[in-house]
Amino acid sequence: MNKTNKEPSRKLLAVFAHPDDETFICGGTLAKYASEGVDITLVSATRGEMGRRMGNPVYINRETMPAIREQELRRACDSLGIQQLIFFDIRDKTVEFVDEIQLTNRIADLINEVNPDVILTFHELLGGHPDHCAIGKATTAAAEITGRRESLYFISYGDTMEHPEGFGYTRQDVVKVDVFAHLEAKLAAFRDHRCQTEIDEWVWQNDQEALARFGRYEYFLKGSEAARVQEQEQEQDDLFVATCVAQH
Ligand SMILES: [Zn+2]
Repeated sequence: MNKTNKEPSRKLLAVFAHPDDETFICGGTLAKYASEGVDITLVSATRGEMGRRMGNPVYINRETMPAIREQELRRACDSLGIQQLIFFDIRDKTVEFVDEIQLTNRIADLINEVNPDVILTFHELLGGHPDHCAIGKATTAAAEITGRRESLYFISYGDTMEHPEGFGYTRQDVVKVDVFAHLEAKLAAFRDHRCQTEIDEWVWQNDQEALARFGRYEYFLKGSEAARVQEQEQEQDDLFVATCVAQH
């Protein structure tokens, strides 16, 4: 892309499996970038209609679940500042069984359409749930075939990547984003996913106590070898840094 005088707005594409992945795993980061004017598009491959949590007390059932989870996800997107939401309408718990090439091509088309600076998805081995691993694998393949591998980052759980050595990575492979200023938005989004979080008492405590449960940082693994090599001693704290480096 040609650089013009006017800096184009930065764009982020997040490709996840279920409503709530965005909030529970990297809600602080999404809220942070949204607050900085980054245009965020979120894909939820499924509507999470097989989830076992149904509110406390239960207020939904298997039939009403897809629509309610969609509604709750839309609220969470508002709380986090996510502007575009796309459902792939794959059945929950079956992402690993859909045609991999078709899924990859669908994501590749979306990458070409959105033209993101940063792509977030699950690590295909460290995703922790078959749907997560499958959407991560397809998104990684899509980033590859669209030549966007250097824009790719894998989300990770909690502070597990504070010690990446245990997973065969080093600090240079990790981006550690300070989300302290955005934890209130993250908490609001947790509460928006009411049917999923109502059973977790801590979410509904007073704000100060609930906020204290969140870590200050969210961690991402770089999705390309080249991006890892480029980074020097210094620990990276911004997902958009590598994109700038790659353009020079
Ligand atoms: Zn999930």
